[in-house]
Amino acid sequence: MAEFSIIETYFNRQHASNQVDLGIGDDSALISPPDQHQLVICADTLVSGRHFPTHTAAHAVGWKAVAVNLSDIAAMAAKPHSILLALSMPTVDHEWLQGFSDGLYACCDRYGVQLIGGDTTQSPHLSLTVTAMGWVETGKAVRRSGAQIGDLIVVSGSIGDAAFALQHLGHPLQQRLDYPTPRCELGQQLCGLASSMIDISDGLIQDLGHILTASQVGAKIALEQLPINTQLQGIAEHLRWQYALAGGDDYELCFTISEANYQKLLHLQPEVTTSVIGRIQEQSGLSFTLHGHNQPLQLHGYQHFA
Ligand code: ADP
Ligand code: MG
Repeated sequence: MAEFSIIETYFNRQHASNQVDLGIGDDSALISPPDQHQLVICADTLVSGRHFPTHTAAHAVGWKAVAVNLSDIAAMAAKPHSILLALSMPTVDHEWLQGFSDGLYACCDRYGVQLIGGDTTQSPHLSLTVTAMGWVETGKAVRRSGAQIGDLIVVSGSIGDAAFALQHLGHPLQQRLDYPTPRCELGQQLCGLASSMIDISDGLIQDLGHILTASQVGAKIALEQLPINTQLQGIAEHLRWQYALAGGDDYELCFTISEANYQKLLHLQPEVTTSVIGRIQEQSGLSFTLHGHNQPLQLHGYQHFA
């Protein structure tokens, strides 16, 4: 099957919202950012066997390829607009392509995003690169570098689910691994409120660490406040912390915010729960407490955190 008929069959659906000037079919797409806004743009690649288990359902792969990028757009406090898809695959597997494109469009439709172009090639490995674009009012993007001493550290949803599911394929929490939910609405509500923000893809410690480094501050985390799924309550405490702090694939937002602005956020009634897990402090590094007492932690893959 020729490249153009793959595109025509699977990737040229009409979208409900048609907010692009020129979509699929020409050499490039055309989009017009609103006045006084900046283009926010990012890309993420998923390689089969590396970023998702080889037997992951095609529909889930399609969803996740879009979702992980929309999560990066959300983490800048931006509104997602459109995506490009670069698809490399060993063979033309129609069943897989149908499931994949259904999953991809399901995520696009859920978040009001349009597929406006891409590239389709043959290669020995299945690999997908999605580029996502969005808008944010000029100067209003929330970066990693703005955390202030005394700010609250807040996390959306629950963390550790996906890492647990990866070790327990077939568990109901596999839904959280296969179908991450980018926090697009929350991200936009945090525009003008959060002082810094990141999405959690590599585990809370590593990603919060990026905020601390960029902002040149430290943090104290209260372990009993970590939002850990009730389905993980039965497992040993240190394992729960391991999943929640060092797991990854959460695609939740971690942000810092003043107490006053956090109250403003709560008045907006975000559709996802948010949990205060700690505070930004002057002393550099990351330390942990359990019910008010210092709790040195040793997590697999990490050195001591004291
Ligand atoms: P060119 O040869 O000029 O790069 P292509 O033949 O690769 O153009 O692509 C034709 C059109 O189809 C372009 O508009 C391109 O953006 C789009 N396209 C190609 N592959 C995909 C894909 N996997 N998903 C969405 N659009 C695609
Ligand atoms: Mg091309």
